[in-house]
Amino acid sequence: MSANPGRAAAISSILNRQPKQVSATQPLNKIWASDVFNLATMEEALSKNAFKAMKNTFQTGAPLDPATADVVAAAMKEWAMAKGAKFFSHIFYPMTNATAEKHDGFIITSPEGAAITEFTGSLLIKGEPDGSSFPNGSLRMTNAARGYTAWDPTSPAYIMHTANGATLMIPSVFMSWTGEALDKKIPLLRSNAAMNKAGQRVLALMGETDIAPLNSSCGAEQEYFLVDAALANARPDLVLAGRSLFGAKPPKGQEFDDHYFGAIPARVQNYMQDLEDKLYKLGIPAKTHHNEVAPGQFEIAPYFESANIAADHQQLLMTLLKSTAKEHGFMCLLHEKPFKGVNGSGKHVNWSVGNSTQGNLLDPGSTPNENLNFLLFCGAVIRGVHLFGPMLRAVIASASNDHRLGANEAPPAILSVYLGDQLEKLFMDIKSGKLEASAKGGYMDLGLSQILTFERDPGDRNRTSPFAFTGNRFEFRAVGSSASVHGPLVAMNTMLADSLNWVADTLEGALASSASKTEAVISVLKELMELHGNVIFGGDGYSAEWHKAAVEERGLKNLPTTADSLPELCDEAVVSLFSKAGVFTPVELKSRYDVYSEQYILSIEVEAKLVIEMAKTLIYPAAISYLSELSKTGAALKDMGVSLGNGPAAKVAAEADAMLAAVAKLEAALEMHDFASTDDHMNFLAYEVRKLMDEVRDHADTLEGEVADEYWPLPKYRELLFIK
Ligand code: ADP
Ligand code: MG
Repeated sequence: MSANPGRAAAISSILNRQPKQVSATQPLNKIWASDVFNLATMEEALSKNAFKAMKNTFQTGAPLDPATADVVAAAMKEWAMAKGAKFFSHIFYPMTNATAEKHDGFIITSPEGAAITEFTGSLLIKGEPDGSSFPNGSLRMTNAARGYTAWDPTSPAYIMHTANGATLMIPSVFMSWTGEALDKKIPLLRSNAAMNKAGQRVLALMGETDIAPLNSSCGAEQEYFLVDAALANARPDLVLAGRSLFGAKPPKGQEFDDHYFGAIPARVQNYMQDLEDKLYKLGIPAKTHHNEVAPGQFEIAPYFESANIAADHQQLLMTLLKSTAKEHGFMCLLHEKPFKGVNGSGKHVNWSVGNSTQGNLLDPGSTPNENLNFLLFCGAVIRGVHLFGPMLRAVIASASNDHRLGANEAPPAILSVYLGDQLEKLFMDIKSGKLEASAKGGYMDLGLSQILTFERDPGDRNRTSPFAFTGNRFEFRAVGSSASVHGPLVAMNTMLADSLNWVADTLEGALASSASKTEAVISVLKELMELHGNVIFGGDGYSAEWHKAAVEERGLKNLPTTADSLPELCDEAVVSLFSKAGVFTPVELKSRYDVYSEQYILSIEVEAKLVIEMAKTLIYPAAISYLSELSKTGAALKDMGVSLGNGPAAKVAAEADAMLAAVAKLEAALEMHDFASTDDHMNFLAYEVRKLMDEVRDHADTLEGEVADEYWPLPKYRELLFIK
């Protein structure tokens, strides 16, 4: 019996691997956005009038007339074909974390048999991918499953280069014929509109006269793992589930913290440079990259952009992280917890709102009036998180993120707000009435930009908070690394819209009865803090005391799993929040619950089946082969009068048996199909099936430490994490 060739072959193939040659980097101004049909390209390609119309649409979302659409389509086609594109595709974001595309050729044939090309305004504006197999909850009957895509002219088209050639990609929304949103982009655009409307109300009440449309911004920090492809492909769990379902802790893990911000390995540097050149060509402003805490873990963070474009770019980034990794002989893991006992990956969604006239409204600014606007918007966020924390928890819920939230490295599953010492004190002073008194004196300079400069020092930030103010934005730190940012952005924009409307209503009354604007603002904030100040927490979010106090004293919810949190989407207050804001109709929201709960159930079932298969067909046979070797050797030694003893053999035999017994229990659990509700089914998976999966794993991981190395079929943690 020989060692498993999969693992051995994988390891030897790495030793011979040649790094992918990356062409010398080109100057940024040569490659920046060179594959993007952006305003600058359009200005050159379009007539003055067409460009003016297009620019207006791009900046405000105003509809484009059909004649201009024809002109834009023709120019887009010329531009794309000159870059080698023969196909175009509407690209859209169904209710998965994936991106979907259907490619069509520009080509049509003439009656004479010649090939000509065609791309009209109507082809640009509307596509019919059918797409009956995209998840849609209860929104479409499959017999009438047609949905269509419509061009989003506020996000620029671009060229995607693959081994298969160049394709013109057209960012699009995806909806049913009856107008329901089947995707993640429509709700994002709607949530932005709702936030804009409410924000304008507040700013108008604050006496602002020139108010440009408000937009939300997003800068997402993306963590990921790179594992050598040969090793990863020898692990069915990494291939199918994106995480290791087995694997004993290596003697060396991340305890030295020697990887964090350490020198980046050469092969990885090659990869990053290649990736970043691709991103730059697509106009994605990749700004920082570094090693993360765990061995084999890295981070990339593009500079922030308007939320709609940032969300499109974030999807593209995830696609390119993976495809570029393949070219470099890596597998890129975006899973939230690929390795047990090693830090997982998140995606910090930095979010702010603002416009071109008042600037970033989550930045304290430098004048007293800017300070007041800031306090109102910041207060509105506090109120939103307090009222809708469980909903925020629900939108980041997934089978994979459950492994991270609540563990001792990631933000807890309790939503609280971190403000920093000085801002927290200010809000507490407002609550206690300390500032009310000084406001009554008339003019009050809060000097916030001064005091908050200190807070912007990253060293001072609370890393244990799921939702932290970081000087001029909020950072939603509990989002999963594999998630799209759409859901969190929709949730934040919508809760803010609701809160800004409350602020406007309350401010209207306060202005009528107060001597000054400052006094009115402080009284609104005082009321807000009395109702919602409980959500502010600056301490250690990982501690057991907080978990207890949050629930018992603050009345916040601790929702550790997806099974606990997804039902929050069906809560009456949440349904009303989204329908009042015009973001989701109740039917659309219910469809999200249906789709996400189904995805949760399917992912755990797939993993459980894989646990069973790997335990039975890879791990058990390895243990038995080793046992048989031990018994042969034992017999031979006995003939020579030497006793091997049966310590190791007995342990292997016992663990292998125990593992099979646990597998049998897991198999039986998967046979259960009688659930009163989807919620019950999710609960069963979260709390029973997952436990049994862990039980199988525990025995297998013990076996890994007992069975001779050459018999072990799966690349081990020490190999997956450390060989680059
Ligand atoms: P850190 O790791 O300290 O949180 P990074 O620089 O890695 O900081 O990432 C911060 C992210 O926040 C970047 O994507 C950055 O562009 C983004 N960001 C900065 N200012 C804003 C803002 N006003 N609104 C939204 N995102 C922002
Ligand atoms: Mg950050």
